[in-house]
Amino acid sequence: MKAPVIGVLGGGQLGRMMTEAAHRLNVQIVTLDADNAPAKQINAKTNHVNGSFTDADAVRALAKECDILTVEIEHVDTDVLEDLAAGTDTRPDWRLVPATKIDVQPSWRTIRVIQDKYHQKEHLITQGIPTAESILIENNQAADLEKVGAKLGYPFMLKSRTEAYDGRGNYPVRSTADIRGALAALNHRPLYAERWADFSAELAVIVVKTDNDVVAGKWRHTTKAFPVVETIHEDSICKLVYAPARNVSEIVKQTAQELARRAVASFWGKGVFGVELFLLPNGDLVVNEIAPRPHNSGHYTIESCHMSQYEAHIRAILGWPIPTESIDFLTPGINAIMLNILGGAHIDSHLDVEERARSVIGARIHDYGKGDSRPGRKMGHVTLVASSMSSAEARVAPLIELVDEIRS
Ligand code: ATP
Ligand code: MG
Ligand code: MG
Repeated sequence: MKAPVIGVLGGGQLGRMMTEAAHRLNVQIVTLDADNAPAKQINAKTNHVNGSFTDADAVRALAKECDILTVEIEHVDTDVLEDLAAGTDTRPDWRLVPATKIDVQPSWRTIRVIQDKYHQKEHLITQGIPTAESILIENNQAADLEKVGAKLGYPFMLKSRTEAYDGRGNYPVRSTADIRGALAALNHRPLYAERWADFSAELAVIVVKTDNDVVAGKWRHTTKAFPVVETIHEDSICKLVYAPARNVSEIVKQTAQELARRAVASFWGKGVFGVELFLLPNGDLVVNEIAPRPHNSGHYTIESCHMSQYEAHIRAILGWPIPTESIDFLTPGINAIMLNILGGAHIDSHLDVEERARSVIGARIHDYGKGDSRPGRKMGHVTLVASSMSSAEARVAPLIELVDEIRS
C-alpha cells in the first residue's frame, strides 16, 4: 500500500531532519515555508508551498498537496487546522478521512493549548502534572510585575505566553531594578511570570504517542519514552545535550520517563513530543514545557538509537508500528553528546566550528543550510557518539571552546 503524503508546516532544521528520515522510508513530504527553507533544499519537488505557517491560505494550499498535516513548529495557525480537520481528529485511520477533510497530527487542540505557554501550564495543572508556579500578567505595567515579585520572590522568570523559542521571550527578573528592562524587552507581548526553579539539572525526554487502536470500544493510545537526557542551556538557549543524562540515578530517570509519558498522554493525537524537565535538588521533577513535535534534545537519536525521533514521528502519525526497544540506545553502553552550533559574531563563524569538527573522530556534523547566520541562531549541530561519556567529553571539548570563542 502506498504511504500517504505528509505536509509539514515549517521547513527549518526539524523539518529537514524529518524529511531525511522520511526519504529513507520513501515517504513523500511537502513543506510549507519560505522558498528554499532548509527542509525544501533537500527535497526536490515542485509542489512545496511558499509562504507562512501562520497564513491560513498557505496552510490550505499545503493541505491540497497531502493526506496528513503535521508540524515542525507550534507557532502555526490552529484555526485553519481546526477547520481542515473538522470531524476527523478522532479517527485513527487516515484512509477513513473524507476527501475534503484532512488528518492533522498531532491534533490542532494539542498545538493550540501548547502554543500559549500559560494555557499549557493551566492544562498541565489540571492533569496533576507538577510545573513551576505561574502567574498571569494582565497589564504589562511595572506595578503588576512588582506584585508578582512580592508573591514569587526574586529572581523570577518573565515569559512571553506566545511565539517563544530559544529563550526569545524569556527575561530573568533578578530584582525590582530589572523590571524596567524586562518590560522594555517584552512589553508588546502577552506575558506571564514563573517562579524561579533552582534546578540541579535540566532533563528532557522525547515521548512518542500513538492512538491508532480501538480496544473494547475505546480509543487506546500508547506512549513510549526515549532515554532521559541532560540539557545544558546558556541564556535560555540549549547548548549541549548529554545522552544518557549524567549523574542521575536510574530511579530518577524512570520517574522522568513516567512523568513525561503521563504529561504527553494528556494531549490529543499522534506524534513525537519533547518534554523539558527541571530536576530539583530534593529529587523532585517538574515539567518546564512540552513541544508537540521533534525537539532539539532528541537530535542525538539519529546516531544513537535504532530509530530516530524523526522516524518515530513519521511512523506515529502514519500509524506504523514502533517497537518499544527500537526507541532505546543501539547498545546499552552508548554515550552521546550533542553540541548546538549557534550563529556567532560574524555571518559565517559557525563554519569555523564545522571545519574544526571535521577533524574530530566520529563527529557527525549537521549543517542546516540556513546560509548567513545571526548571533544565537541555530545553524547546525554536532553529535559525538562514544563508548564512554568521558571519551565523548574529551572529543567535544575543543569544539565547545570554539563555540564559546565565536560567541564573543
Ligand atoms: P525552547 O527553545 O526550549 O522552546 P523557550 O524559549 O520556550 O525555549 P523555556 O524552555 O521556557 O524557553 O526556557 C528556556 C530556558 O530558560 C530553560 O531551559 C531554563 O534553562 C531557563 N528557564 C526557563 N524557565 C525557568 C524557571 N522558571 N526557572 C529557572 N530557569 C528557567
Ligand atoms: Mg519553548
Ligand atoms: Mg524550552
